[in-house]
Amino acid sequence: MSARRKPSSPDLPASLRRRRISRSRPHAGSPVWLFDLDNTLHHASHAIFPEINRAMTQYIIDALQVERTEADRLRTGYTQRYGAALLGLARHHPIDPHDFLRVVHTFADLPAMVRAERGLAHIIAALPGRKFVLTNAPENYARAVLRELRIERLFERVIAIEHMRDRRTWRAKPDHTMLRRTLRTVHARASDAILVEDTLGHLKRYKRLGIGTVWITGHLPGHLPGTGRPLYVDQRIRSLKSLRLGTRSGRQKCSRLTRRTKP
Ligand SMILES: [Mg+2]
Repeated sequence: MSARRKPSSPDLPASLRRRRISRSRPHAGSPVWLFDLDNTLHHASHAIFPEINRAMTQYIIDALQVERTEADRLRTGYTQRYGAALLGLARHHPIDPHDFLRVVHTFADLPAMVRAERGLAHIIAALPGRKFVLTNAPENYARAVLRELRIERLFERVIAIEHMRDRRTWRAKPDHTMLRRTLRTVHARASDAILVEDTLGHLKRYKRLGIGTVWITGHLPGHLPGTGRPLYVDQRIRSLKSLRLGTRSGRQKCSRLTRRTKP
């Protein structure tokens, strides 16, 4: 799947504008979608990730007074070890986490950098159940991207990295404590939750909690041949269109996803 320019239409179609997000009492058995943001809802690898990586490395160089190769090593190492570079920096170095998040997610022209699938708003709106964004990125950035994609209002809540922390500890995906607490907060059962995500490590860790897992590969850099999937992935897709839960066959797929994960 090639990422496409975001739709030029300034607003959602009337049918979607009228659609209200259900904030009423959630009922068990209805799917609870947890959408990752970057490389899941949009194509971050196109322009945004290179810029964030560049800014993170520069921040580390300036804050810790290290060489570029060491800064790159810290950035990638902490991302792999903790799920987000911020967690390693906050744990091991005297940096200001909020300043770090703000600086590395500031863009000269974010709208020009956002790419996504055509028809994204229709795809998300057609899915049955409750929808959340669960991202290791900060809230301001996440909401800015969702606004550019014209899908912000389709989500009940944006759960960003600032919302994942405890009183003292920064947390991020794939932290178990964080996800359990998040599900409690939104009154959702793990067996009803489906995580749609490009990062296999997150899906692997969270499958152990009994949630449904969808691996989206269409925005990942490089070519991923074949259709194989690890055992902890319930469904592998290239495009969010493949969820197709507005259709009867899609609803059956969804039912299989959640049924498979029931304890
Ligand atoms: Mg991602």
